[in-house]
Amino acid sequence: MAVETAPTRDPLALSEEERSVRDTVRDWAAREVAPGAAARDEEERYDRSLFERAGELGLTGLPYPEEYGGAGMGTFAWALAAEEIGAADMAMAVSLSVHVLSQLCIFANGTDEQKERFLPPMTAGRELGAFALTEPQAGSDAASLSLAARRDGEDYVLNGTKIWITNAGEAARYIVFATIDRSKGKAGITAFVVEADTPGFRLGSKERKMGIRGTTGYEIVFDDARVPEANRLAAEGDGLKVALSALGAGRISIAAACTGLARNALELAARYALQRRQFDRAIADQEMIQAMLAEMAVGVDAARLLTWRAARMRDAGQPINAPSSMAKWYASDVAMRVTTDAVQIYGGAGYSRDNPVERLMRDAKGAQIYEGTNQIHRLIVAQHLLDGLRREA
Ligand SMILES: Cc1cc2nc3c(=O)[nH]c(=O)nc-3n(C[C@H](O)[C@H](O)[C@H](O)COP(=O)(O)OP(=O)(O)OC[C@H]3O[C@@H](n4cnc5c(N)ncnc54)[C@H](O)[C@@H]3O)c2cc1C
Repeated sequence: MAVETAPTRDPLALSEEERSVRDTVRDWAAREVAPGAAARDEEERYDRSLFERAGELGLTGLPYPEEYGGAGMGTFAWALAAEEIGAADMAMAVSLSVHVLSQLCIFANGTDEQKERFLPPMTAGRELGAFALTEPQAGSDAASLSLAARRDGEDYVLNGTKIWITNAGEAARYIVFATIDRSKGKAGITAFVVEADTPGFRLGSKERKMGIRGTTGYEIVFDDARVPEANRLAAEGDGLKVALSALGAGRISIAAACTGLARNALELAARYALQRRQFDRAIADQEMIQAMLAEMAVGVDAARLLTWRAARMRDAGQPINAPSSMAKWYASDVAMRVTTDAVQIYGGAGYSRDNPVERLMRDAKGAQIYEGTNQIHRLIVAQHLLDGLRREA
């Protein structure tokens, strides 16, 4: 029997439509997103016009149905887009990921009336969304949140503070998680859509971030903020389910962006290694540099494979709790390792803010923390594994 030396069909082949999404976004991101990334980081400046351009290209509603103004393309197509944007500017990729996540809370849990009211301006790229879960005393243990929602007639009155809210200040609406009764724990958590112009709602202090400094991030404060019952997502007490319904897809999006970020760092490092000469030859000819580049390359490919698997599973309607955790944790660890190695390959030049790789390293760090820290993702994966075995026993 003849030995098969190469598969006759690429098992990972993209459809024509998927290739077109990837190529269109790659081209746009290289021309319009990448060039200003360093300046936006330096000036800690969010560029709203890029969000609007993403809207014109149909990216701000890519995974959502056409009836709400989206492109109806699903999670896999969004992952392809997120990798390309992450390769151009991680800050822009994170801002758009949070926007897509906030829409998903509405899409997956809203009534028809809420979807028609909230989604079209968001899918069109006119109104930005934010997702507000974290509080000063409730981070990884999100179920312990204390932002209070008290029923008052047809409204709820919200009091408390959220921190680290990406897109805050620019967002038109926030998906806010509050408790109607702290003694109920998880069963008290309730989700609301809060409009930015709600009386009693305001921005607190600006987050002074290490990386992704081209995003906006603020503390947000609720001081007797009145939110109509019509803006409550799902039933009272179902807030954590609302958050979890969106976070799986959000993790795939971050994993894809991290894959792009790492790919960019690898490419920069390889090009630098080819042109930088020491000891009368290119440093790329040194085996230790080659080993680093090879390890970076396998990390990028493995991160992409885990991300694509999780995205395909989500589009097929399969459970993605563990696969999306694996993808986010692995891809963000790869991004951290690859960007750190890129700085190493650049040597002293890599440590300088005049070159891009130190920014990529700072950008990578955050991804090990937000959308669930990588320790929490290890717990999720282990729990999934052990639960499966316990069910068998
Ligand atoms: C750049 C950036 C953007 C963000 N954007 C948003 C946003 O848009 N919306 C939002 O709601 N939040 C956002 N966050 C907040 C983010 O989700 C939280 O920082 C994250 O969930 C961790 O919470 P924490 O910071 O309170 O850390 P903590 O929960 O206090 O954790 C501290 C350390 O303890 C570890 N730890 C905690 N519990 C365990 C455990 N059970 N086992 C093992 N280790 C554990 C953690 O892994 C971590 O290393 C953002 C954060 C950053 C940095």
